Amino acid sequence: MPTSPAVAAPFESLAAMLKRQRDAFAAEGAPSLDQRRADLTGLRDAVKRQAHAITDAIAADFGGRARHETLLAEVWPVHAAARHALRRLPRWMQPKRVPVGLEFWPSRAEILVQPLGVIGIIAPWNYPVNLALAPLIAALAAGNRVMLKPSELTPRTSDLLAKMLGQLFPQDKVAVVQGGAEVGAAFAGLPFDHLFFTGSTAVGRKVMLAAAQNLTPVTLELGGKSPCVIGPDAKMSEAALRIATGKLFNAGQTCIAPDYVLVPREKLEDLVTAYAAAAKKLYPTLRGNADYTAILNDRHYARLTAALAEAREAGARILSIDPASEGEMAAEHKIAPTLVIEPRDDLTLMREEIFGPILPVKAYDRLDDAVAFIASRPRPLALYYFGVWAEHRERVLAGAHSGGVTVNDVLTHFVVEDLPFGGIGPSGLGAYHGETGFQTFSHRRAVYHQGPIDPKFFLRPPYSRIFPAIFRFLMRN
Ligand code: NAD
Repeated sequence: MPTSPAVAAPFESLAAMLKRQRDAFAAEGAPSLDQRRADLTGLRDAVKRQAHAITDAIAADFGGRARHETLLAEVWPVHAAARHALRRLPRWMQPKRVPVGLEFWPSRAEILVQPLGVIGIIAPWNYPVNLALAPLIAALAAGNRVMLKPSELTPRTSDLLAKMLGQLFPQDKVAVVQGGAEVGAAFAGLPFDHLFFTGSTAVGRKVMLAAAQNLTPVTLELGGKSPCVIGPDAKMSEAALRIATGKLFNAGQTCIAPDYVLVPREKLEDLVTAYAAAAKKLYPTLRGNADYTAILNDRHYARLTAALAEAREAGARILSIDPASEGEMAAEHKIAPTLVIEPRDDLTLMREEIFGPILPVKAYDRLDDAVAFIASRPRPLALYYFGVWAEHRERVLAGAHSGGVTVNDVLTHFVVEDLPFGGIGPSGLGAYHGETGFQTFSHRRAVYHQGPIDPKFFLRPPYSRIFPAIFRFLMRN
């Protein structure tokens, strides 16, 4: 497995770096539309040019990441986010006129959209380019400067990002800080104008605590257990293929991967059969299959195999899609697509985010039981529903919260740029993508322009006898 050559930045230099960016922001002010366009175009083109270098770096960091997955999940979404922002930026940057109401006529009011200043971005390892560059694009579109800390667990990709961004931007506009948890903790303690964190809920808690010392606003893009509900009228083979495609993408190391499935009891065996068939169709052989991604490192591999062993010991029914290949796959750090059927709720697999190609399946008797099961647990990042009847779908969507939803498929709401992406409660705070991302990194500044006639004249002391009539007017229904 790769070792981390990431160079830790000395802590005192982090503060100096922030000061340099802050000074540059104060000196140069908000960048013009043309400047922002040039920044985003440069970034978009660099990602396109370096697509192969990106796939190579991530493949080396993972010890085997499917190249097509990197193109689909890192290169394309980042390119698409830049293209989307480039087209809409003029509209997003426009001041927005708002009505003042009769009381304040003939004054006017508007909302000016201004950059916040210097943004801190902390990124995880599972999509190390997408989750670093997509927030960077939003922050640059909004006219900010950025310090970015990528994950220490994908050191080659982090080096590539540092090199690529170093060639595109001066350090006082975009700086990459490398290092592990200690550097991350020091980074989160800097008085940024906004701190954007993607990672685990446990670290997110620490980040929010550190940011609170500076009253730095945070966006937290966290994890959780995203459920997938099969409705009574779902088309099973279609649902199973779509669930398997999303679950097995990146070997399940996806924040919005379906974490477990709830299925009508009488359909349980149909789902098991259809899922196994779907996994085989997607990955006809698992041994040496370059389309099937490895588990990132020893720690995550051991975590997943221990959770499976615990489920086996507890008597859960476990179905590995390709048990014959398991020995050789272990050498490649790969885990076969595996179903865990009717696990107990106290097992690790049902308590913690799985983040691997293991899918627990639980049967339910009534749709309301499935909804109650989800609603009684921490609010997840994503929720998936498969079925045709609108009434069933509405019951699930209304009864259980989640950050986002895809109906009759999985993951896809993430890549629709105009949909806000974010969690709720323990799965996250705030959102980004598209205009929502632009707004996350902007200050909506309220500006009131007093007109030539000031109708508030009647509201000053000494209060006249017409005050009651004016007050009645103000209090009209
Ligand atoms: P992680 O929380 O372990 O690490 C994320 C980043 O935080 C890394 O850069 C790390 O160096 C840094 N860090 C570690 N300790 C820190 C500290 N005390 N203060 C500040 N920063 C610190 O997460 P991970 O293992 O890299 O990623 C997997 C997790 O991320 C999963 O839970 C997954 O669901 C979640 N995730 C969420 C999203 C989303 O968009 N909501 C996307 C991808 C991953």
